[in-house]
Amino acid sequence: MQKIPFVSLEQLREIAKTYPTPFHIYDEAGIRRTARAVNAAFAWNPGFREYFAVKATPTPRILKILHEEGCGTDCSSLTELMMSDRCGIAGEEIMFSSNDTPAEEFALAQKLGATINLDDLTHVDFLEQTLGFIPRRISCRYNPGGVFQLGESKEGFQVMDNPGDAKYGMTREQLFEAYRRLKALGAEEFGLHAFLASNTLSNDYYPALAAQLFQLAVDLQRETGCHIAFINLSGGVGVDYRPEQPANDIAAIGEGVRRAYESILTPNGMVDVAIYTEMGRYMLASNGHLVTTVLHEKHTYKEYIGVDACAANLMRPAMYGAYHHITAMGKESLPCDHKYDVVGSLCENNDKFAVDRMFPKLEIGDILVIHDTGAHGFSMGYNYNGRLRSAELLLREDGSVELMRRAETPEDYFATLVW
Ligand SMILES: *Cc1c(COP(=O)(O)O)cnc(C)c1O
Repeated sequence: MQKIPFVSLEQLREIAKTYPTPFHIYDEAGIRRTARAVNAAFAWNPGFREYFAVKATPTPRILKILHEEGCGTDCSSLTELMMSDRCGIAGEEIMFSSNDTPAEEFALAQKLGATINLDDLTHVDFLEQTLGFIPRRISCRYNPGGVFQLGESKEGFQVMDNPGDAKYGMTREQLFEAYRRLKALGAEEFGLHAFLASNTLSNDYYPALAAQLFQLAVDLQRETGCHIAFINLSGGVGVDYRPEQPANDIAAIGEGVRRAYESILTPNGMVDVAIYTEMGRYMLASNGHLVTTVLHEKHTYKEYIGVDACAANLMRPAMYGAYHHITAMGKESLPCDHKYDVVGSLCENNDKFAVDRMFPKLEIGDILVIHDTGAHGFSMGYNYNGRLRSAELLLREDGSVELMRRAETPEDYFATLVW
């Protein structure tokens, strides 16, 4: 689909007077629209809840907007738990899906009343020793191993990922043992969780994952007698980073999960199982832009456009070679007849937001919008080369702009140093 920014050039010029580029900006209307579409897609399941994956966008104002829309949080670290708590999100509204977990994090999760999702069989005893008991409500993460594939065609598989090579989750045998042991230690309500593929662009991913987990849940409940209260489809629903890619249809995805539910769980009498999701990317990616200004043009063996943002503000292109669409604001209708590398300032040659990409002729002072940066964008930022994290702004539904996080200053960067 054509990528149209949710802010205009005039708005950006006005915003930049108060908040100089680079900055991340998020669209409140879009975030609410996405959350409502997700809730509508799963409205057939009375217990449904989306637990927003905090790591995607750990910004309190955004967590609160999503909370107003009925979402909880999926936390995986001490600070994410603390942030949820400070946002007034607590109890069963927190899912704690971590791995390689320190004891103090289990302790805080329990104190906040979060639902703990265990990544490993050995964590059953670790949790029991840490807390002195096993919570009444508990979840376990499954990893089927092997390769997860979907939708084979001439171009290859629509979805392909490698759970067998992933550090997360338990084998089937371990899962049965964990359930039995947790039950013996007093657990009464059980959850089942798996994350098998990342950034999927297929309406069949969640339904296929759900079918696997539903069948497993039937076997688990039958063989261990544990009451399975919820099944957590986790994250992995992707977004169309490239304009030519098909977007996921969340209504179709919800409907596919419903069909799997009715064909596997319902006939086995499991009719009160709540469906949970832990989406990060799908909720936020397209509702955020990284806004940057062209600082320099350089003509050597290639044509370079140097901008004021760098990989420290958005790591995905440097780290994964990920594509992020870029709009040259005000030049949308000009022909794309110039080929550029759009680069940041890091002393790292992979600090490139675009390589050999066609644009209209760009000039110093042009404002560029880098699309789909609302999830795993700011949050993956880092301070390499002494680069500072940018501000995060919220475009309110009424068109006003609110500061959610100020830009770092050199004093922030120096604050932890002992001279
Ligand atoms: C990262 C993560 C998510 C969110 O993944 P997205 O691909 O952003 O939807 C959900 N659950 C867990 C356990 C994760 O690690």
